Order: sequence, then structure tokens, then C-alpha cells
Amino acid sequence: MVVLEATAGRLSDVSLELISLGKDVANSLGGPLVGVLIGASDVALTAVGCDIVDCYVDFGTIGYSSEMAVTALSARVEAIRPRLLLAPTGTLGLDLCSALSVAFDATLASYVVGLSVDAGRIQATSQLYGGKLLADCDLGDGFAIACVVPGSAVALQLGVGDVEVSNHSLDAIVGSLAIEPGIRHEPEASGVDIVAAELLVSVGRGIGASANLEVVQELADALGVPMSASRPVIDQGWLPKPHQVGKSGKKVKPKVYLSFGISGAPEHLEGMRQSEVIIACNTDPNAPIFKVAHYGTTLDLFDLVPELVELVEG
Ligand SMILES: Cc1cc2nc3c(=O)[nH]c(=O)nc-3n(C[C@H](O)[C@H](O)[C@H](O)COP(=O)(O)OP(=O)(O)OC[C@H]3O[C@@H](n4cnc5c(N)ncnc54)[C@H](O)[C@@H]3O)c2cc1C
Repeated sequence: MVVLEATAGRLSDVSLELISLGKDVANSLGGPLVGVLIGASDVALTAVGCDIVDCYVDFGTIGYSSEMAVTALSARVEAIRPRLLLAPTGTLGLDLCSALSVAFDATLASYVVGLSVDAGRIQATSQLYGGKLLADCDLGDGFAIACVVPGSAVALQLGVGDVEVSNHSLDAIVGSLAIEPGIRHEPEASGVDIVAAELLVSVGRGIGASANLEVVQELADALGVPMSASRPVIDQGWLPKPHQVGKSGKKVKPKVYLSFGISGAPEHLEGMRQSEVIIACNTDPNAPIFKVAHYGTTLDLFDLVPELVELVEG
């Protein structure tokens, strides 16, 4: 079973990644893959790869509360009795997984980056200590939950396929809630997919101010690639959330990761250390980013980037 979320009128990227992972596990175990969608049923038709999608469309009109989502999901788990539930590491997954794990006395693996099935037992690979260690865990033979780090699998392509959609109502649940559902704010849509990019130009707090971003944006434009960022850049509203790399952002593995003014905190490294080639620009020679970088320079980014733009534009 996979928890699917819809943002900006489409299945989120991480939902498509979960379907991809879930499909492999379902094939190995010889069972169907069921999606539970918190949102519009027309989006459910694009969950190609799921055999059935259970929809709770009322989340769109009633609003959201974790109590309501946990109650709705618990009903589906009771009805379907899945071996494994996959949810994204992110606001939704963190909100739901521990509560469901307690409710069903289920094994919970957090920060999962890989799943496999060995002789009918599900194995998960989880990140520990901000990705410094990887732990292989046997999830046992009962009901287990895996909270999966975004970017851990190749997303299935969006399409319209032969998906059986079944709608469920929250009416019966709403009356019994202790917490009134509130409005769920969708992240700002930006149209970028930093997970799919083969080359990323990434920027950190070293950029100093929102107005300076255009210096690095020019390089990203010249290379024809998206710009990604560390969390402070997102927190200050200089770039929208889908650009964030790291523990609470996306996990990326581009062929080349160019970083400018990023110190290399463990939470950032967790999201990009598996890039094939890391090139770092940081004026501080002791910045931890240099411990993972294949190439590095202590030049000032404001001196280096315009030179690079000139080189790229020939
Ligand atoms: C639970 C939790 C989750 C988190 N999740 C994330 C996450 O997903 N992603 C993330 O990135 N962080 C995350 N963080 C925050 C993380 O701990 C760091 O605070 C953050 O990564 C630092 O961002 P930074 O490197 O851009 O800024 P800083 O650490 O401030 O580094 C800025 C760097 O720029 C360099 N610099 C300054 N001026 C220049 C210049 N002109 N040219 C070149 N270099 C220059 C400086 O030497 C410095 O090293 C999380 C933290 C917590 C507690």
C-alpha cells in the first residue's frame, strides 16, 4: 500500500517514486499494489502502476488534520491488511507513520532509501546519522511501514492507465474528530524537478541576499539546468520549497552537483552526497563541503560565477 498525495492538481513526484518502489515489492511478494490518495479522484487515474487507488476526495473540501488522515488510513489498513505501507518522508509521512505504527503495532523504518524482498521478507535500507551510515533492516513478517526519503527511486511516468478507482467518504469520520480539520496549504508550484536533473547548480546562504540569486541563476540558465538550494535559501523565501536539497528537502543524485556558498552541514549532505561529481565553491577552506567534494575552490562565488557564465556562453 502506498500513501499518495496530490499537489498543484497532479500526483506529487514522491508519490510516483513510491509507486515505483511499491510495484517492485508487490511483484516480489505476488500481491496487488493499492494506493490511498488524499485528494482528487481524477488524479488517481494517473497512478499508473497501482492496481487499485482508494480516494478520500473530501480532503479537498473538508480540509486536513493528521487525526482525520490517520483515521482514514487506518480504515484502509484494516480493510486491506497490507504487508507494507509506504509513505514519503515529509510533512505527510512524518505526520502519519508513527501514529499508524503505534495503532497497528507495526515495525516502522524511517529515512528509507531502498527496499527489497528476500525469501518473502521485506528488507529496508535506512539512513542513519544524516546519511553517514546506511542500515539494512529486516522488517519482519508482519505489517510494516516504511517512510521513504524523496529521490530514493526513479519516479514512474505520469500517464492515464487502467487504474481501478474507489471513492471513500470522510463523513463517518468527521463527526468523531477531537481536532477540527484546517486548510492544507500546498507548497508553491515551481515547475522544477531537481531530482531528475543530471546537472544541478546549487546555492546556499553564502549568496547573501535574494537579489544576488540572479548571479547564479545566470549560470543555471546558461547551462540550461535548474537551480537547487540549501534550506536557509528556502526558509528566507528566496526560492520555493521544491528547490530544497537535503534532509527536509529532496535527495538528488545528479551527474554533477555544483555548489556555491554552501557550508556542507550534515542535513544538506544527506540530500546530495551521492552525486557522481561534487564541485564546491566556498571561501572557507575548512567548510565541511570540501570533505565530500571531488573538486573545490575557495574563490569568492561573486568572482567565479560570472567567469563561468562567460566560459559557458563562449
Ligand atoms: C531537522 C533539520 C533538517 C534540516 N534540513 C535541511 C535540508 O534539507 N537542507 C539543508 O540544506 N539544510 C537543512 N538543515 C539546516 C542545516 O543544518 C544547515 O543550517 C544548512 O544546510 C546551512 O545552509 P548553508 O550551507 O547554505 O548556510 P551556511 O552554513 O551559513 O553556509 C554558508 C557558506 O557560504 C560560504 N560563503 C559565504 N560567502 C561566500 C562567497 N561570497 N563565496 C563562496 N562562499 C561563501 C561560507 O563560508 C559558508 O560556509 C536542517 C537542519 C535541521 C535541524
